[in-house]
Amino acid sequence: MTEPISRRQTLQTLMKHGRFLLAIPLTPFFSSWLHASFAQAATEQPKGEIMNQASSPDTLDPYRLPRHVVPIRYDLRLEPDLTAARFAGQETITLTIHHSTSEIVLNAIELDITSAQIAGDSGSSEQATIALDAALERCHLTFATPLSPGTCRLTMTFSGTLNDKLRGFYRSTYKDERGATHSMAATQFEATDARRAFPCWDEPDFKAVFATTLVIDPTLTAVSNTTIASETLAGGKKIVRFADSIKMSTYLVAFIVGRIEPTEPVMIGKTPLRLWAVPGKGHLARFGQDIAAASLTFFESYYGIPYPGDKLDLLAIPDFASGAMENLGAITYRETALLVDRQSATHGELERVADVVAHENAHMWFGDLVTMSWWNGLWLNEAFATFMEMLAVDAWKPEWKRWDSFGVSRAAAFSVDGLHSTRPIEYPVQAPKDADAMFDVLTYEKGASVLRMLEQHIGSTVFRDGVRDYLRAHAYGNADTKDLWVSLGKIAKQPVPELMDGWIFQPGFPLVTANVSPSSELTITQQRFSYLSKTQSGSSQDQRWQIPLQMRITAGGKTSTSRLLLTEKNTKVPLPHNWESILLNEEGHGFYRVRYAPELLDRILNAGIDRLAVTERFNLINDAWATTVAGLMPLTDYLDLTGRFIAERDKNVWAVLLDSFSFLNRIITVADRPALEAFVRGRVGPAVADLGWAPRNGESELTKQLRGELIGAQGKLGNDPAIQRRAAELYRTYCDDATAVDPNVVPSLVATLAHTGDATRYDEFNERLRTAATPQEERRYLFSLAAFQPTALLERTLARTISGEIRTQDAPFLVSAILGNVYGRELAWAFVKANWEKMDHMFPKQGLRRMCGGIISLATPELERDVRDFFATRKIDLGGKTLEQYLEQLRIGVNMRERNGIGLRQYLQAFR
Ligand SMILES: [Zn+2]
Repeated sequence: MTEPISRRQTLQTLMKHGRFLLAIPLTPFFSSWLHASFAQAATEQPKGEIMNQASSPDTLDPYRLPRHVVPIRYDLRLEPDLTAARFAGQETITLTIHHSTSEIVLNAIELDITSAQIAGDSGSSEQATIALDAALERCHLTFATPLSPGTCRLTMTFSGTLNDKLRGFYRSTYKDERGATHSMAATQFEATDARRAFPCWDEPDFKAVFATTLVIDPTLTAVSNTTIASETLAGGKKIVRFADSIKMSTYLVAFIVGRIEPTEPVMIGKTPLRLWAVPGKGHLARFGQDIAAASLTFFESYYGIPYPGDKLDLLAIPDFASGAMENLGAITYRETALLVDRQSATHGELERVADVVAHENAHMWFGDLVTMSWWNGLWLNEAFATFMEMLAVDAWKPEWKRWDSFGVSRAAAFSVDGLHSTRPIEYPVQAPKDADAMFDVLTYEKGASVLRMLEQHIGSTVFRDGVRDYLRAHAYGNADTKDLWVSLGKIAKQPVPELMDGWIFQPGFPLVTANVSPSSELTITQQRFSYLSKTQSGSSQDQRWQIPLQMRITAGGKTSTSRLLLTEKNTKVPLPHNWESILLNEEGHGFYRVRYAPELLDRILNAGIDRLAVTERFNLINDAWATTVAGLMPLTDYLDLTGRFIAERDKNVWAVLLDSFSFLNRIITVADRPALEAFVRGRVGPAVADLGWAPRNGESELTKQLRGELIGAQGKLGNDPAIQRRAAELYRTYCDDATAVDPNVVPSLVATLAHTGDATRYDEFNERLRTAATPQEERRYLFSLAAFQPTALLERTLARTISGEIRTQDAPFLVSAILGNVYGRELAWAFVKANWEKMDHMFPKQGLRRMCGGIISLATPELERDVRDFFATRKIDLGGKTLEQYLEQLRIGVNMRERNGIGLRQYLQAFR
């Protein structure tokens, strides 16, 4: 699955100006023989997989089903009624009964189950007594006569509601070009919502074959995981029967029914690939289809295994809670993550579509063909898909320098993993809400970061061969983290588990401190990094990691690279007597922060930061900012350091700088804001003046994106009147002729004009929202409505988030954006408090959770107290450690304000 708003983009969103205009500042700172053998494996009952008692869960766990009855095959028939928003269903589940039992327990919730009947091989059949347990989302079937071991078929009839909560089997609506509203039905089952569509063994290791039949209105179209086996008309209905799926988990099943239109298929090997959209949007599918084709080809080659399905459809759904969902053969997307107009989109918008499409395709193997055994191993799916999306997009568009911008993802992971309330990548999961809370920056970005570190440590070819070994060994089955290490260790001939366990099973990451003695001995010390001091925490300071450390030593005018594996708290390294400078974390792949003794930092700076690679400059400033927030570096030293980056022209490095300025903007008093604005203008202005407003011949996409983001920062954070006037002029030009302005600049024009806008501008942007030509343009204008300053306008936006006017896939993010707007945060917080019950009822769960992330912007002591009171009094649980993490991030902001407020004011006086 992909989050609705990419976490790696959250760092940039603070200055974002329109790509999302969404400030959820997560960063306080921040081949053919295989075909034959796999086909055979798919139809065989695996030996010892589900029934492996050594690895089976404790059957006393209320959230785990007993393992003595195991599904092999589901024959599903569903009849959705889009008008009545209801569906009727019937299923026959072929089961293996391992020992005699008079009870079958499976998952179901919000279903009306009317009959359940079991039939054995002998032809005997018996009706079950049905009892539903809503709290545990289970259905108990009891039989008067105990069932004997062997194979039997359970047939159930049931019905349910096509809900509006964007989970299970749900309804989505859209308006056609004439303004008429249409309904469609779609599914979102991950993590535990297949049970809302049909009674099932809804755990990832109960893999089975699915044979789906959809009974629909003849004017509609149906898509599911596999090709259509037959289509017939009967009783005024179209009966669409789909081919058998491979053996797979329930959370990957999908049905989509509506007026949807496909592109012409392109053949990737034997796989027909199509994109689907509601009528009128097919022209926005080309870019997505290109990266879908390129990444599918890339993955077949990388994994050395053909795509496991019989076709691949990518479908844009108008209402969609997450970013996308990797249902095998029927991947669903929110429109912004799949449909895009190449000509009018920003580089960031194109990159987002490429990332998400590549990510979901990577899952067809990692996740769908081989699946984690349980949700604690979710990182195996998601970290891998995130890592593979980078590889595939980098191979497709090397000029995008995707691994450079991966630094922003790594930084997002650092910002949460530096909290005492972080968690290990692999973390116990019981209840469904805890499974939902696992879809976070630690699973995706930290997971992908440590995989990248391992790949660079053991070598990319060895790593790839280990991945191939793992996939072949566990195809059509489930696996755990240790299985991956076994494969990688076997191929690498290295003790991979010993190296990786510290990164996967313990929370946090190391701060590596470098000191040098007068006798030229380098001492490298590791300790767990944290933003808040030890006295405020209970975290262990004795944690150790095995750190693959790459170091560049310059001596006598020559540079050399040293590789070490740090295992101890202190490591001493003799340096050549004529050493000039030392850089730790060369190339920047390591998942640790570096803190240099002042002399070492001076030598790096004096040698010239332009001699460092992009990722090295990125880490230098990002680590400096983090150590500043942690109180290990004076804020004034950090602010001086930012002055060394005036000539910087990399968008990622600038993302760190602007993120830190936004952080200061949140903690500063109203009286000091003009001085901060002047400081920002001093830092950003030279680059804006140099880059100008229009692209130059031969300029890279990345520079175009940087221009847009710097203009936006100067217009908003810098509050520069000259930029604001020019933005207004250029926006008028753009309205007359959209091709007259580079697309990468447009979001910053919109953001700057919203920042200074009045009711007339609000109405104008609202009209542009209504008539937007692309999903990206729609989002740009939607989020602009959170960026105004006048209270009356922000009140209008807030009211619309719960009026049903704004889709619930977006509404919580809009509230969060206003929480992040320093002119609207108190208003938005009061609105959240007053409307919590309604929001809790209306918004998708993960949207509500992300909305609450906005509280970290409420960085005043009074607001912090109020926030803590509210969540404690209401006993609100966002699942996992989510709320704890938000509250700690808020504490860090307030702590920074209390510690640095006066010093910051004095420092900034010089810029007034
Ligand atoms: Zn994913």
